Amino acid sequence: MSLTHLFTDKVQAMQAYHVPDSGGMIKLDAMESPYTLPPEMQQAMATAVSLASINRYPNPSSTSLIAKIKKVFELPDNCDVLLGNGSDELIQIILMATMRPGAKVLSPAPSFVMYRQTAELLDMQYIGVDLNDDFSLDEAAFLAALEKEQPAVTFLAYPNNPTGGLLNKAFVEQVMQTATGLVVVDEAYTAYAGDSVVDLIGQYDNAVLIRTVSKIGMAGLRLGYLVASPQLVSQFDKVRMPYNINVLTTASARFLLGQMSYIKETVDKIIRHKQSLFACLSAQNGLTVYDTQTNFLLVRVDDASAVYQRLRDEYKILVKNLHGSHPVLDNVLRITVGKKKDNEKLCQALGEILP
Ligand SMILES: *Cc1c(COP(=O)(O)O)cnc(C)c1O
Repeated sequence: MSLTHLFTDKVQAMQAYHVPDSGGMIKLDAMESPYTLPPEMQQAMATAVSLASINRYPNPSSTSLIAKIKKVFELPDNCDVLLGNGSDELIQIILMATMRPGAKVLSPAPSFVMYRQTAELLDMQYIGVDLNDDFSLDEAAFLAALEKEQPAVTFLAYPNNPTGGLLNKAFVEQVMQTATGLVVVDEAYTAYAGDSVVDLIGQYDNAVLIRTVSKIGMAGLRLGYLVASPQLVSQFDKVRMPYNINVLTTASARFLLGQMSYIKETVDKIIRHKQSLFACLSAQNGLTVYDTQTNFLLVRVDDASAVYQRLRDEYKILVKNLHGSHPVLDNVLRITVGKKKDNEKLCQALGEILP
């Protein structure tokens, strides 16, 4: 007997988030850091984690971890912080707290898929303002959409995923000034961009910042943080599941945030590898490479799906095929920067595959 009818039309129409099997592959598809911890640090973290009180529920407001995050990331004193099980959960909390049937959610398009996916699941109306072919945003068109649609929530990824560029900061501020709803700036890649709007968050009542530790070597922890005025954070906090951050994540994150010089070193190393990979790809025939402010690069080829499959099947290299997800991404592959030798393998493989 089929039980499909028990599920809402939305859920029936949805696709599960597909994560391809990566066993034995060189994994350049998910914006992860390629580096595991050095052995001494693994040992020290194991000790710290072993002391966690796994018999107890976590401290529901994660006080000590929040204090550490505020200090390490130099967050404004007049703002509060809310933790999420990844920034994915923060996106869900923001939208669950503001959803009304028909309420609108606005963002440039393409942008991070969870904005649209979560909005639509919650019966909100998602509106994307298409990027130009060079991945820049038509600022006037975006501001016009903002005034016309009056979205409950506007998402601006700074830098953007999957296109990797950075909006003008003055434009982000203009959006905060113009919007009557919330403006959520998603800084998942701030470490690679070397730029942030954190200083604007304390200045605008409707401004919300979300960040994650996923792209700086801690994707496995599932930890994101939201920064906004105490007034906004107190509302979001009602929607958060009381124990959303588990004791093992708390213990390991507290330990790792005490190792920021190591984390910064790996970020700098990835940025240097990105420059080398960009140079290598630029010298190849048959592709156009786009630079970014993130830990990934984009390449456009003649037939992205064929290149994707050959990289996967013949070279055991996994990248992300963005073809088909939005017209500006026609035949575009997204390549996460990996270890030096893996980047070299990728570049060489493309040299062999492309005419
Ligand atoms: C990766 C990414 C996220 C999700 O991060 P998690 O903390 O791992 O859930 C959010 N926004 C953007 C723009 C991203 O690229």
